[in-house]
Amino acid sequence: MKYILGVSGMTLSYDDLLKRLKSSQNIMESGTKVVRLELPKPIIFWVGNKTIFRNFMEFARIVRRDPNHLLMFLAKELATAVSLDKDRAIFIGRKEPQSFSVLINRYMKDFVNCPVCGSPDTNIEKVKRLQFLVCEACGAKSPTKSK
Ligand SMILES: [Zn+2]
Repeated sequence: MKYILGVSGMTLSYDDLLKRLKSSQNIMESGTKVVRLELPKPIIFWVGNKTIFRNFMEFARIVRRDPNHLLMFLAKELATAVSLDKDRAIFIGRKEPQSFSVLINRYMKDFVNCPVCGSPDTNIEKVKRLQFLVCEACGAKSPTKSK
């Protein structure tokens, strides 16, 4: 397990660091493990010139994010247009099935997992034009990438 101390934009005094380390230890000692989300395997197939992500909504539900946010992230990374059809996301063009796992992992890292404790129990909080990841496990508030 890795702890990132001194997250950008935060200045920590030595005492703060000690407190932080202590509370991290407490978390471990009390047996509260950082829970990693169990993600299903993306079900991807091609129909004509389109790529269907059949269990897309399952992912949005598990990571507890606005489906549109995840959808737009994928569309942007794949540089294509996308539409939603019930639980399925339909991308224009034939996209590599493996690339979806890679992109979802990146999304988890950027918008779901707390950079301080690694917990996926987080919420996105918007303050003016800034976006923060607020962790329910350790209380850390970390800036996320915009969009
Ligand atoms: Zn945390």
